[in-house]
Amino acid sequence: MDFRKFRQAMGTFATGVTVITTEVTGKVHGMTANAFMSVSLDPKLVLVSIDKNAQMLDKIQEAGKYAVNVLANDQQEYAMIFAGQTKGDKKVTFGRLNDHPVLKEALLKVTCDVDAIHEAGDHILFVGAVTDFTMENGEPLLFYGGKYRTLNRAENLSV
Ligand code: FAD
Repeated sequence: MDFRKFRQAMGTFATGVTVITTEVTGKVHGMTANAFMSVSLDPKLVLVSIDKNAQMLDKIQEAGKYAVNVLANDQQEYAMIFAGQTKGDKKVTFGRLNDHPVLKEALLKVTCDVDAIHEAGDHILFVGAVTDFTMENGEPLLFYGGKYRTLNRAENLSV
C-alpha cells in the first residue's frame, strides 16, 4: 500500500480543526490537530492522536493535561500558526479556562486531565478526562482533502 495514497484517502474524511494547548513551567505550547474525537459521555472522555515526532508529545506527558480548542471559521490563521505553516514566530495571547491556556475566541474549549495513554503505530493516543468546557456561537473551520474549508450553506436535516 502506497503511503501518500493512504494519506490522501484518509483526507476524504472531513473534520473540524483544533489547536491542542498545554503548559509546562509557565510556557504554553500549541499544536494544530484534526485527530480529535469525543469518546465517552459518562465519564466524559475525549481523545487526541499525537505524532511521536511532535514536540507536543513530551509537553502533554509532562503537564499531564491539555486543552482542545475547536476553531471557528474565521480562525484559519491560528490553525496555520500552530501547524508551523506561517513564516516567523507569531505572538498569540491565550485566555484561561480552569487554569489551562486556551484560545479565547475558539468555538469550543475543552480542558482535560490525561486519563490514559495508548501507543498506536507512529502516534500516541491521549485519552483525556474532561474537567471543563465552554462553547461560543459560530460555525467551524473544516479540513478536507488537505485544504481548509468552511460551510457554505445551512443544512436542513436534523437528527
Ligand atoms: P512545533 O512544530 O514546534 O510547533 C508548531 C507551531 O506552533 C510552531 O510554528 C510554533 O512556533 C507554534 N507555537 C507553539 N506554541 C506557540 C505559542 N505559545 N505561541 C505562538 N506560536 C506557538 N499532527 C498530529 O500529531 N496530530 C494531528 O491530529 C494533526 N492534525 C493536523 C491537522 C491539520 C489541519 C494540520 C495542518 C496539521 C496537523 N498535524 C497533526 C501536524 C501538526 O500540527 C504539525 O506537525 C505541528 O508543527 C507539530 O507541532 P509540534 O508540537 O511538533 O511543535
